[in-house]
Amino acid sequence: MARRDIDFLILGSGVAGLTFALKAAQFGTVAIVTKKVDIESNTNYAQGGIASVFGKDDSFELHIQDTLSTGRGLSKREAVEIMVREGPERIMELVDFGAQFTLHEDGKYFDLGMEGGHSRKRIVHARDYTGNEIERILVKTARNNPNITIYENHIAIDLITEHQLKPETKSGNINCYGAYVYDSNADKVNIFAAKITLLATGGTGQVYLHTTNPNIATGDGLAMAYRAGAMLANLEFMQFHPTTLYHPEAESFLISEAVRGAGAILRNKSGEPFMKKYDERGELAPRDIVAHAIDAELKKTGDECVYLDLSPIGASEIPVKFPQIYKKCLEFKLDITKELIPVVPAAHYMCGGLVTDLQGKTLVENLFACGEVAYTGVHGANRLASNSLLEALVFSHRAALHVTKKIEKIPSPPIIIPPWDDSGTFNAEEWVLISHDRLEIRRLMWDYVGIVRSDFRLSRAERRIKMIHQEVENFYRKRSITEELVELRNLATVALLIVRCAMMRKESRGLHYTTDYPEPDDIRHLHDTIIQESISNLPGVMTNIK
Ligand SMILES: Cc1cc2nc3c(=O)[nH]c(=O)nc-3n(C[C@H](O)[C@H](O)[C@H](O)COP(=O)(O)OP(=O)(O)OC[C@H]3O[C@@H](n4cnc5c(N)ncnc54)[C@H](O)[C@@H]3O)c2cc1C
Repeated sequence: MARRDIDFLILGSGVAGLTFALKAAQFGTVAIVTKKVDIESNTNYAQGGIASVFGKDDSFELHIQDTLSTGRGLSKREAVEIMVREGPERIMELVDFGAQFTLHEDGKYFDLGMEGGHSRKRIVHARDYTGNEIERILVKTARNNPNITIYENHIAIDLITEHQLKPETKSGNINCYGAYVYDSNADKVNIFAAKITLLATGGTGQVYLHTTNPNIATGDGLAMAYRAGAMLANLEFMQFHPTTLYHPEAESFLISEAVRGAGAILRNKSGEPFMKKYDERGELAPRDIVAHAIDAELKKTGDECVYLDLSPIGASEIPVKFPQIYKKCLEFKLDITKELIPVVPAAHYMCGGLVTDLQGKTLVENLFACGEVAYTGVHGANRLASNSLLEALVFSHRAALHVTKKIEKIPSPPIIIPPWDDSGTFNAEEWVLISHDRLEIRRLMWDYVGIVRSDFRLSRAERRIKMIHQEVENFYRKRSITEELVELRNLATVALLIVRCAMMRKESRGLHYTTDYPEPDDIRHLHDTIIQESISNLPGVMTNIK
């Protein structure tokens, strides 16, 4: 087992991790640990763009109001203000790095797009591959920085805290000293010891059967933070994107909101446009309303999908404005300049997460979190389209500013950190049984903890997932580490935590809709659902030294 000592350990190489890394590298050594190749992240797949105030008819206050109204009373105004006001500067910084966003015909100003829930055009984009452009430029800049080392195919297993140093710890502050990381090329677990650890592990869409998220999005950061005793909030608010391509081989390919922003219409199988029945804003209503409307329409008609009609955009404009979507659909023999796109909703974005302050600091000392894994208070009960890249950019910048000022004063991690005990056997037959659990969890979550919930469905999901969770924990303690096992353990934990948060919210608000309490309850429920394991309960949950 090797031990690496660095100043900053960053888990994840999406927009949040890379932004933080580039700033931290001016003040110390940085290791970016990422479980696949460096560009593989949710960021890389973002299509629509980044919301920010650049339009002449726009204002910070309008963007703030749109965000607060989508958040249904749970967004924290202070966090929203910071994100909105600091946004333009962060976007111009990406331009300085070399990001090429689509410009208006005059070649001077951004070509600002429109998306659901926004009252003005404010989506800065690089055609329909914005995330890929951001990831490309940030990875390139990070690779050229001599203070940054990127460790690809390395998956963080657990954070190193008092519990690894002294498993009998029952009280006091929890400090983070880095992480145990599995190098899947070398099949070895190493210690990455750091003064500061940043969780930038992204989302958790893979906990659902249908998701727009790539395979990396297994909620590892949430599960690791929970096992370390950090505070998590509002995990019931999983955003379902209303429109993903309905095709057996498409793996829930996203059809961006910007397509509806450009004029596309949703129709049911009989060709009827139906959105106006559900909301006067029609196709431009926020995502939860559109996803809900599609779900209701499908339940009413018994159909498997609804359709997006792009004809109002104009056949010649479609390949220019949406080249990626056009090409991808052609791969499935669907010419979207002539045909309707079959679409269904899919799990897309985790609005809750690991609770941080406005500098990205968690309740665990020297542990920070940014991006989709974090809960800054911006999104509340629902996220406004294209606010997530913005949130990641703004708060990772703030976290880096905050922490680099005090890095000199932070003591180095302890000299003795117990090595990973990788004794255990790998039994392929047993593994096959356990690997079915991944699919089972995802199905259970889709069927019982999806767009429409109820007490009955949630308690059924809880009973079953608890059992799977326990089995996986037992298996984990006896077997040697594999990447799949680490992910499965985290998926089981996160599924259970989402169910628990959903059970706590006895009302319908934003993304959480339950038939037992169909209305929002502004008197008793205008609060976050909080999950934090008491320190005295932790060792049983988190011991990863076998
Ligand atoms: C298809 C799609 C379209 C989207 N479109 C938009 C959009 O138009 N606008 C917008 O604002 N948002 C959009 N989003 C959401 C947005 O892309 C994400 O919220 C954002 O990119 C998250 O960035 P991040 O840095 O937090 O995480 P990610 O970009 O997901 O990066 C997470 C990183 O952590 C790594 N990782 C995870 N677990 C571990 C582990 N245990 N050990 C080591 N590494 C680990 C991953 O490999 C990855 O490198 C979209 C998302 C998807 C999936």
